[in-house]
Amino acid sequence: MSEPPEPGTIKLIDLHAHTTASDGSLTPAELVSLAQRLGLAGLGISDHDTFAGYQEAVPFARNAGLDLVRGIELNSRLTLPGNRGHRHVHLLGYWPSASPSPEFDQWLNGEREDRRNRNRRLAEVLQARGVDITLQEVEARGRSLAGRTHFARILVEKGYAQNSEDAFRRYIGENAPSYVERQSQTTQEAIHKIRSGAGIPVVAHPIRLAIPRDVEREVLVGLKNAGLLGLEIYHSEHPPELQAYYRQLAEELDLLPTGGSDFHGAPKPDTKLGVGINGNLRVPYEFLERMRHLVK
Ligand code: AMP
Ligand code: MN
Ligand code: MN
Ligand code: MN
Repeated sequence: MSEPPEPGTIKLIDLHAHTTASDGSLTPAELVSLAQRLGLAGLGISDHDTFAGYQEAVPFARNAGLDLVRGIELNSRLTLPGNRGHRHVHLLGYWPSASPSPEFDQWLNGEREDRRNRNRRLAEVLQARGVDITLQEVEARGRSLAGRTHFARILVEKGYAQNSEDAFRRYIGENAPSYVERQSQTTQEAIHKIRSGAGIPVVAHPIRLAIPRDVEREVLVGLKNAGLLGLEIYHSEHPPELQAYYRQLAEELDLLPTGGSDFHGAPKPDTKLGVGINGNLRVPYEFLERMRHLVK
């Protein structure tokens, strides 16, 4: 594969962004308008567990002449080989041309129900720790879908935490005492769901797997055998040398390369749409063409 393109010479896209339909701070219309101002040629909306933001964005993107891609970000649980425990793997699903099957939409309803049950339990566990917080309060923050980002905002506003990072560290993050695990399907099952729903499954921000490279390769080969089609090689949290490494790995394993900033707006103020953190991101339009080619 070729080296990353020179600035200004090619059309750029961003395939990983969140709206107010999940835990982003921009409405779908605002996100489309920002993408247009930045001169992006394509935008993937990949909210957690919902297509509502994508659907709302469709007419705005059409008016703006922006190539909009339907995406989603799903949680899953991966058991590592050789007694190394497990990881929470985020999977992106993309529908660059086709629409998801009705069965997939049905299944998503169940995912949102699981999320809601987790939120209810999390509020209870926090209350048991003496925190003044209710499920109703949290749900009032999320327009159609509430999550830990909304819990964090309330914890900060009420003075329980200094900032969002602090809230995750001390209250709601994976290593916090009041962490509540979500009921997640295995990564293999989620890949299968996306494939049978006519989508393209992609492992998001592989840096967060946080496992040695040989184990990571073994895991990705296993997931490819389970139906995985792509790897998010470019991401705001990937330093340049890691982007190069993942680009090579995706090519070797014959996985489609994808990339995106993981833009959330205010909740992650350093992560900018289209350009990542301190301009570390540059995703060529060609990735989207390859994605479309794959499902043709
Ligand atoms: P949920 O899907 O409700 O479990 O919430 C997960 C979301 O919380 C992620 O998508 C991030 O946007 C956010 N998040 C996770 N960990 C952190 C952290 N340490 N600091 C700030 N935000 C985080
Ligand atoms: Mn998020
Ligand atoms: Mn993620
Ligand atoms: Mn994301």
